[in-house]
Amino acid sequence: MSILVYIQNVKGQIKKQSFELTAYAWQLAQKMGGSITGIVIGEIDNEHLQQLGKYGMTKVIKVGDAVFNTRFNGVYTRIIEQVAKQEAARVVLFPDNNLGKALGPRLSVRLKAGFVPEVMALPVSYDPFIVTKRAFTGRALANVQVNSSRKILSLMINAFGINENPVELSFQEFQPQLDRTTSRLQLVNRLVYEGGVNLVDADIVVSGGRGMKGGENWAMLEELAGTLGAALACSRPVADDGWRSPDEHVGQTGKIIAPKIYFAVGISGAIQHVAGVSGSKCLVAINSDPDAPIFDVADYGIVGDAFKVIPELTAVFKAHLASH
Ligand SMILES: Cc1cc2nc3c(=O)[nH]c(=O)nc-3n(C[C@H](O)[C@H](O)[C@H](O)COP(=O)(O)OP(=O)(O)OC[C@H]3O[C@@H](n4cnc5c(N)ncnc54)[C@H](O)[C@@H]3O)c2cc1C
Repeated sequence: MSILVYIQNVKGQIKKQSFELTAYAWQLAQKMGGSITGIVIGEIDNEHLQQLGKYGMTKVIKVGDAVFNTRFNGVYTRIIEQVAKQEAARVVLFPDNNLGKALGPRLSVRLKAGFVPEVMALPVSYDPFIVTKRAFTGRALANVQVNSSRKILSLMINAFGINENPVELSFQEFQPQLDRTTSRLQLVNRLVYEGGVNLVDADIVVSGGRGMKGGENWAMLEELAGTLGAALACSRPVADDGWRSPDEHVGQTGKIIAPKIYFAVGISGAIQHVAGVSGSKCLVAINSDPDAPIFDVADYGIVGDAFKVIPELTAVFKAHLASH
């Protein structure tokens, strides 16, 4: 019996969420028993995976053939299904991102397992198995009971935190039984935007809205983000108007993020925007309108003109960082 953790392998590096999932699995194992096994697909060195032992994972199953470096959801689902059966996995954990949203439901069909996305915390009860999930784009929480013997959860990013529970880690190669190794679709070409800090993983995010007046004014947000090692984000109209890449759009119809600090600059705080950032540990709003709804959800607010406040804030952070 095991708890199976999907380890996200991006070009031979592990995504930080894999550590959080492992720490979560460790807590589950304390209550449910069993060991924590990871599955990683695609080429990756053991030295990167070794870190997972720090958080309680005892075994990593590697499906390391280069043919699997590109993710095809149908193929990955079949691989995870076979590993889950071999390991008698009672729980399978995914990160709640595009990957978890693609693989979780598919695996749920193949394993006849209940799937709960957007899980926020450890189960409130283990028998029956009840977990708390985000509902209505973060306006509510729902407790969901999973009645199937196998359970699949996708865990909200940064919802749980990372605790160390060091153990000995071993590796095992796995040869999946597949009738084909590619999907009916074939990836022909891919354009990847390099550079900057990954928005979903970022601890600090600097986000701009229509109050920034135009894409040409983003240099000041870029400077603040560069000073703090932050990622950049934006509201939907900013992306719709082509001021910034749609990749940076956060909210109900964009990315859902949960950084430690979120700076909302010139953003009114519409419900659809807040839905994507309400998991932020600390929300700092900068807005010239004291009645802007963003202040209702902000931990700290600065009422003022962003064009004056942001350069001053950046100068203060630069001075502070230089003196430490
Ligand atoms: C179905 C649906 C889905 C949606 N999904 C999303 C989504 O995923 N994400 C999203 O963001 N939106 C989404 N929206 C749009 C959302 O409703 C809002 O229209 C949008 O979030 C507003 O963007 P904004 O805050 O940048 O602009 P505005 O609402 O125009 O706000 C601009 C703010 O800037 C302030 N401001 C102006 N000048 C300055 C200055 N010099 N200094 C400081 N502040 C200033 C103003 O006081 C104002 O509060 C969705 C809408 C619908 C209907």
